[in-house]
Amino acid sequence: MKTPAFIETIFNCLPDLVFAKDSELRIVMANDALMSLYPESMQDRIIGYTTAEEYDEEEARSFLEQDRIAFRDGAATTIESVDFPSGERKTLFTQKIRFEDQNGEAFIAGVARDITEIVSNQAALKESEERYGLAVNGSSVGIWDWDQRTGDSFYSALLRSMLGIVDPDFIPSLADFNARVHADDQKHFRARLAAHLHKREPFDLECRLKRDSGAYLWTHVRGQAEWDETGNATRMAGSVDDISDRKRAEEALQRSHEQLDQYAHIASHDLKEPLRAICNHVQLLREDLEESLEPEARQRLNRVEELTRSMTQMITDMLQSSRDINSEHYELVDMNAEAAAVIEMFADSANTTIEIAKNLATVHADPVGVRQVLHNLISNAIAYNDSDLKYIEIGQAHDVARTGVSGPVFFVRDNGIGIAPRFHQAIFRMFKRLNTKDQYRSGTGAGLAFVHKIISHHGGDVWVESEMGHGSTFYFCFNTAS
Ligand code: ADP
Repeated sequence: MKTPAFIETIFNCLPDLVFAKDSELRIVMANDALMSLYPESMQDRIIGYTTAEEYDEEEARSFLEQDRIAFRDGAATTIESVDFPSGERKTLFTQKIRFEDQNGEAFIAGVARDITEIVSNQAALKESEERYGLAVNGSSVGIWDWDQRTGDSFYSALLRSMLGIVDPDFIPSLADFNARVHADDQKHFRARLAAHLHKREPFDLECRLKRDSGAYLWTHVRGQAEWDETGNATRMAGSVDDISDRKRAEEALQRSHEQLDQYAHIASHDLKEPLRAICNHVQLLREDLEESLEPEARQRLNRVEELTRSMTQMITDMLQSSRDINSEHYELVDMNAEAAAVIEMFADSANTTIEIAKNLATVHADPVGVRQVLHNLISNAIAYNDSDLKYIEIGQAHDVARTGVSGPVFFVRDNGIGIAPRFHQAIFRMFKRLNTKDQYRSGTGAGLAFVHKIISHHGGDVWVESEMGHGSTFYFCFNTAS
């Protein structure tokens, strides 16, 4: 076949594979794109050949079959993956059409488009969609998606079930989502959404969403928009987390805090009232017996008054400790002064010596909290102590090998009964007691839990080193390195 030069040029410039075959299925024409898929050594065995032997048997059978169909029916179309002699594997979309030349001889013309990349992109897209589907369905949060350009919205199956949507034909929309937001949360919701869309601030908030039943669900909603080059949001997707259990627990906790507060106020008032009365009676006694009072009896009365006042103070402190310790109450606390004030309260303890090391550091802490920590540790050191001479030392440790600790570490050391190592953690739990009531002091087991709470609120650490029969050392600090 003789072809005009310009047609041949176009023919050779085409990226598609173009060829013609005669009725014996031999290639009679092939453009450069097709020729380039055969190695140099084969170039003279293409025109005039079927080249079938260069291919895998199955592949060759398939494309020769398509050639025959084209000859028989006038046309054939296939999508096939072919391993070319050059070593390249291509997916081709091939159309073959029968034609006759001026002598009436039949040929087929073939055009094969390389769709390898399109097919692999489609496969990747399918895989990515499958992965997305798995993530959406496997996720424990509801997913939503809103495409502003098309107006389409999507709610995942979990989100539908959270919202109580049972109608399978329900079509989600942005308007539907907005309408579900509780009236009291609308303002905040709209403000956060506007701030995200216009100022790109994070869209992350808690709000109540209405279920189809009319009941409201507490949720945590997050989202992320996409913007076009003019800054308009084109799409937004996000998640909805059902947080109603947490909210219920928070509300219950809040109620119980309020009740506890009320209880603490009432209890402290009721406890202080008789203490005030004792003080009054002591004063009256002293006045009435002014003349006849022996110095020793006077001293005792003074002591009763003093102890009553100190107990009143402790109740006030207890009440204060029921409020959450927060950094607003922090001030510089001189540990020497604080320890000296606390040991005053134990001045009457029999056979007891309490020593305070010099130059204890000053800490930035809640002074009421610090006092309670010292008071509880010292009172335990005296109570759980069988020694003939109880010796208690308040000091500062300079060689602490505990990880995470930073800042000054203080200690209260005693020569008491000691604590078996297996209880070193447990004693800080609320109401945990190791000794039966009649054996030592009849406490409630709340003291060390209190100490732990105060120290934790400061971000510090408290721990004990002890062995049975060898005394105990309680260490504490108000800062940790974390
Ligand atoms: P309470 O003194 O009211 O029982 P705490 O929480 O202060 O409660 O202490 C819990 C338990 O830890 C005590 O019952 C006691 O058995 C043990 N314990 C606390 N401090 C000491 C100490 N310094 N020496 C020996 N045991 C102690």
